[in-house]
Amino acid sequence: MKVKRKSAEKSYYLPAILKGMVFTLKTFFRNLFNKKQRITLNYPEEYYPYSSRFKGNHILTVKKDGSLRCTACMLCATNCPAHCIKITASESDDPEVEKYPISYEIDMLRCVFCGFCEEACPVDAIRMGPQWQTPALSGENTVYDIRHLAYRKELKSGVLSVVDDKERIRAGL
Ligand code: SF4
Ligand code: SF4
Repeated sequence: MKVKRKSAEKSYYLPAILKGMVFTLKTFFRNLFNKKQRITLNYPEEYYPYSSRFKGNHILTVKKDGSLRCTACMLCATNCPAHCIKITASESDDPEVEKYPISYEIDMLRCVFCGFCEEACPVDAIRMGPQWQTPALSGENTVYDIRHLAYRKELKSGVLSVVDDKERIRAGL
C-alpha cells in the first residue's frame, strides 16, 4: 500500500505557526494602544465583579445596634467538613442572649466553600457573599477574624441579619 506523505508545508505546521504569531502580535498591539479593550486586569487591585448570588467569602452579620448576630452555638463549626472554623464563646451580659463569640476565626486556606456553615446557622449569622478574592502575603493573613468577617471596609458598617432578637426568642433559638 502506498503511504501518502504530508506536504512539507503541512508537516512543519507553518501555516498554524504563522497564524498564531499574527494573532499574538495583533493582541499585543491592541492591548498596548487600546487600554479600554484590554481583557486582562491588574489582579488583585482590579478584578471582575462576581454575581451577587456567588457563594464566596464569608460575612458575619450584625444586629441593628452593630453587634454580632452570632450566638456562639457552634453549629457552623460542628458542621464544617474542613474543620476551619474556630470559635471562642463567652457569656453575655444581655439576659436575652446566652452567649456570644469573643473570637471567631475561619482559616480560608482550608475552607472548601461548601456552604455548610451558612446552611447550619439557625440565626442568619453567617453568610457567603459574592467576594472571592483571597490573596495574601503570608498564611497568617488568610485566617479571617471578626474584624474582617463582620466589619471589613467593603461591608460598610456591617450586613444586617434578617433575624432580629424578638423573632429569634419567639422561635426559641
Ligand atoms: S464553607 Fe464549608 S468548609 Fe468553608 S467554613 Fe463553611 S462549612 Fe467550613
Ligand atoms: S451557627 Fe451561626 S450562630 Fe451558631 S456559631 Fe455559627 S455563625 Fe454563630
